[in-house]
Amino acid sequence: MNKIENLKILYSEEQIQSRITEIAKELNLFYQGEEVVAICVLKGAVMFAAELVKHLEMPLKMEFIRLSSYGSSTSTSGKVNAVDIKLPDLNGKNVLIIEDIVDTGLTAKFLIEFMGVNFNLKSLKFCSLLDKKLTRKVDIEPDYYGFEVGDQFVVGFGLDYDGYYRNLKYIAYKSTQY
Ligand code: 5GP
Repeated sequence: MNKIENLKILYSEEQIQSRITEIAKELNLFYQGEEVVAICVLKGAVMFAAELVKHLEMPLKMEFIRLSSYGSSTSTSGKVNAVDIKLPDLNGKNVLIIEDIVDTGLTAKFLIEFMGVNFNLKSLKFCSLLDKKLTRKVDIEPDYYGFEVGDQFVVGFGLDYDGYYRNLKYIAYKSTQY
């Protein structure tokens, strides 16, 4: 079966790139040249983080952590697994967490609490490419987000289904059942 069939584009490459430059402008304004540690949440945020940081103008370091809550299903397990969350000393740093999508909000909540417990940060901002506001289970909002999506499973631009589709330049959803 062709895995790419039945995909409907939600946000095109052009729309994504243009929204990323807008978010970057806001971030450049907010940080005013102060140093930032950008934390990319693997694997889903890899494309978004890579594109976003190209437009950030302050001194910047990148860190990568890996979490998982989905396995090979299309609904969250409700439990966040810290697969690899090794980080340097972030005390006194401006930290920008870069995520692919906020769904139930459990991952965002976990990360924000983790940062609070382990470090005394100068600032913490949470930036997500997508925001699935309708499916939220905890009261949490990203500080910055690219696009809102409805209660549908989306793929592309870093987001996968069973490991596939991360390489798509656009964000899409399947028009039929998996
Ligand atoms: P949350 O903890 O907010 O429920 O879920 C966050 C994680 O679930 C995201 O980082 C992402 O990996 C995954 N996720 C949630 N919704 C979707 C979706 O529509 N498509 C894909 N591919 N992953 C999703």
